[in-house]
Amino acid sequence: MSYEFVPFPDTGATVRRESRPWARHDRRMPGAWFGTLRVEIACHQPIHVGSGFKAEQGGRVVRRTARAGERLVLPGSTLKGVLRARFEAITRSCAFEPPSDRGFIISQSYPDVRRGRLTAAVRQMPIFDERCGRDNRLCAACALFGFQYKDESLQSRVRVADFLADEAARSAVAEMPEQYEPRLHHLGDFRIDRSGREPEFEVSRLYGRKFYVGANPSTDGAPRRQQVEVAPAGTRFCGAIHLFNVDAAELGALLVALGVEPKTYLKIGAGKGHGFGRAAVATVGYQLRDELRRSREPAIDAWRKAFDASGDRWEGGVVKLVEIHERPC
Ligand SMILES: [Zn+2]
Repeated sequence: MSYEFVPFPDTGATVRRESRPWARHDRRMPGAWFGTLRVEIACHQPIHVGSGFKAEQGGRVVRRTARAGERLVLPGSTLKGVLRARFEAITRSCAFEPPSDRGFIISQSYPDVRRGRLTAAVRQMPIFDERCGRDNRLCAACALFGFQYKDESLQSRVRVADFLADEAARSAVAEMPEQYEPRLHHLGDFRIDRSGREPEFEVSRLYGRKFYVGANPSTDGAPRRQQVEVAPAGTRFCGAIHLFNVDAAELGALLVALGVEPKTYLKIGAGKGHGFGRAAVATVGYQLRDELRRSREPAIDAWRKAFDASGDRWEGGVVKLVEIHERPC
């Protein structure tokens, strides 16, 4: 299987929305953390981040990976997305939106079923309820990474810069199956509804948050292949993660999400189910300050304990995320 599910919280508060007075930008809160993590990410599999650009190379069309000038880059927005998805999975946070049930489904087991839908019960799950921000109550992920909903918004307190490869780093070309949407009926319990004009998958319960795993190129998937430019395994990217008004429990969760404490693999970019995208944080340099801009030593143990004790922690999510991305030390 090229993907696994991290279960949604099923005990206690499914989504924990609290007032979080430090989730602000207008002043520095006493006791909060500020500053920069200088992070180095090493590719363990080839990584391709879609850039929308194509090039011709040896008579073939090659989809180019993200670049900053001539240098290979992991865009900050891509990395922030990876971090947020992992942070959501380990906390009692809301999810961005339910999986899309538009578009055609191609199923080998049920070739006559081309459509699917989620039941109202799935769409109304608490994690898909867009209540964050109302009455000043926010889930942990929206409070840290920001949110935008209609006329309300909150800026992220974690700013991820673009991560640049060394100037000497060279790209390679690899073959990747063309992407297709995950099949809706693989995401949860389903039945086939044959009461309408066309048969439909009806998904009545989602298994959880989906994460790609897998160390080896898989052989399933769409038969059509494309040529993609990649940062080869072994490429190293360096960049900064800037923090503002971050509390100890958030830092503990952030280090889990980053795969630093405990050490886990990340999956970045396209083709994650097909042997692409595995990476890991190789080094972290801490340049931290307190609210009075005095330099402050990292407190990794204290951050971990604070997250352990936090009501935002979703233990089932932590256990599963760490298990599926386990990294030998
Ligand atoms: Zn939220």
